[in-house]
Amino acid sequence: MITSLKEKLVELLKDQREIFGNDLFEENNSWKTKIEQPDNNRKSVKPGNQMPDKKPNSSKVEIYDKQFAFSECEDPGKQAMETWESAESLEELHKNIGSCTKCVLHEGRNKFVFGNGNANADVMCIGEGPGAEEDKQGYPFVGRAGKLLTDILKAIKFSRDDVFIGNVVKCRPPGNRTPLPLEMNTCLPYLLKQIDLIKPKLILCLGLTAAQGLLNKKDSLTSMRGKIFDLRGARVMVTYHPAALLRNPQWKKGCWEDVQKFRKLYDELN
Ligand code: URA
Repeated sequence: MITSLKEKLVELLKDQREIFGNDLFEENNSWKTKIEQPDNNRKSVKPGNQMPDKKPNSSKVEIYDKQFAFSECEDPGKQAMETWESAESLEELHKNIGSCTKCVLHEGRNKFVFGNGNANADVMCIGEGPGAEEDKQGYPFVGRAGKLLTDILKAIKFSRDDVFIGNVVKCRPPGNRTPLPLEMNTCLPYLLKQIDLIKPKLILCLGLTAAQGLLNKKDSLTSMRGKIFDLRGARVMVTYHPAALLRNPQWKKGCWEDVQKFRKLYDELN
């Protein structure tokens, strides 16, 4: 009972975040004396190379902005070499990352959800991370939200076999909470490698977390919807997450407009 109430609250907060972005949930520090901080963005965070905590109350600003090739990094105590980087197929990549233990999400994992669909797809759909059903089955979007995604794709004349479906994180966050930035940054290189192998022309980000994670942006869903971004040779568009649509059917009209535009872009590119 308490768990289901907690899960309902989590979903409710996710809906709020979906539409209003992070601003609602971040501490407003504008009244504090502004001390320049190192930019701890994901470009500096590579798998196995997690950012050291900043020392509290340190007046001296120490900038940490090293760049490492993934092959220079080690997953402490796990892998001597990052073999997945040189994978030449999805299968090889999957074999190399399927037992990943780089972030805490692996601890609660039942199945690693690599993603599935057409390995040469022109279109990829990217969600946030596996839910309970996906964790159980090992495939993305197989629950209620997955059924809605299948219907959305069908409405714009794609079948699930036409596209490749993946997620920003590949292990289920506990209680379906939003993945933390460190978890997303740790997992994101795997998704980027999937994109490099599949070479899609178009990517549809499903929801704010997928959009912010993939595009490395802090913008709200409202400001990203309707725009076209470029990423690794693909055009990227953003729409609502199907799970959010299930809870907020009034957002379906907006989603319909987004995916119509997405289909038009696809037709123009082909
Ligand atoms: N929600 C997601 O973001 N991804 C899934 O795979 C399932 C539900």
